[in-house]
Amino acid sequence: MSITEQALPYIRGISPYVPGKPITELAREMGLSVEKIVKLASNENPLGMSPKARAAVEMAISGLERYPDQFALIAALAERLGVAQNQIVLGNGSNDVLDLAARVFLAPGRSSVFSLHAFAVYPLATLSAGGACIVVPARHYGHDLAAMRAAIRSDTRMVWIANPNNPTGTFLPYPDVKVFMHSVPADVVVVLDEAYNDYLPPAERAESVAWIKEFPNLIITRTFSKIYGLAGLRIGFAVAAPEVADLMNRVRQPFNVNNLAVAAACAALDDHLFVAESYALNRRGMEQIVAGLKRLGLEHIPSHGNFVTFAVKEGATVNQKLLKQGVIVRPIGGYGLPNHLRVTIGLETENARFLEVLEKSL
Ligand SMILES: *Cc1c(COP(=O)(O)O)cnc(C)c1O
Repeated sequence: MSITEQALPYIRGISPYVPGKPITELAREMGLSVEKIVKLASNENPLGMSPKARAAVEMAISGLERYPDQFALIAALAERLGVAQNQIVLGNGSNDVLDLAARVFLAPGRSSVFSLHAFAVYPLATLSAGGACIVVPARHYGHDLAAMRAAIRSDTRMVWIANPNNPTGTFLPYPDVKVFMHSVPADVVVVLDEAYNDYLPPAERAESVAWIKEFPNLIITRTFSKIYGLAGLRIGFAVAAPEVADLMNRVRQPFNVNNLAVAAACAALDDHLFVAESYALNRRGMEQIVAGLKRLGLEHIPSHGNFVTFAVKEGATVNQKLLKQGVIVRPIGGYGLPNHLRVTIGLETENARFLEVLEKSL
């Protein structure tokens, strides 16, 4: 008998997450030089990290012999968001807090509800806690809130919503999300994943964090990986009712967020100029890529994030051709979209290179 047979059956049933291909890996595989490769596969910030965050990291290098003090970041986030400090849960990336939420509320015999084509971490977090996944068919590639409400069973303890969603870029107007919150039983947790919140035009945003007072079953998650440009440092957070945050903090590893990440995140929060530049660059790049896709006769799903998903026949073959020419995008067959590719909005030159290579690859 093999030792793996002793593992929990629900762990053995998990399909591993497939990340975007790293630049160095493609360079090795294709014998290309790293400088020639354009990676638009993981929704990273093409401007890099905020200069203020970089300076803070350099400062924090002296002090790495000490365990992290997370207080300054928790205090800054609480103030920025208008909540109490005991409502913040820090994560090693927001994926970490998604997992903490699942560990608190899911187990064998319980289920979670999410949409088809939603973020890959929802099934991963659900299955690793032993929960069952209820996957609701999508509506115009996005979440169908009425169908998700109807899918809630007596054993359902969580609903996952990504707004905007990755990899489709679809967006639910906040008034609709609020109606959904009113319709969900009070004993079902709703995780509202707002990783791309900062890319929404101000008119589309909402004070969703303020809803937690009315809905103690609401957990909101955000990240420093996207507009703040800190994906490699791994830092994100959840905002929840104090009693929910307390439970999540009990299962959290005490030092899940490191000194450099805390320092960088504190500085990044205050770098309004960098955030504004990143936002503006994304708007322009989105127009550039969407115009290019239209010119090539390719349909896309209108996106509210820093990426866009477009339809292409034989997605895997086109992806292979792009890779050979040093352009990394994201195949999303694993999300039930084998004839689509997702491209992250990059710098103007990167977007142009992507469009040029795509045209040759069709
Ligand atoms: C990128 C992303 C995250 C953030 O992940 P981190 O662990 O914070 O890097 C969370 N949710 C969605 C939907 C994402 O696309």
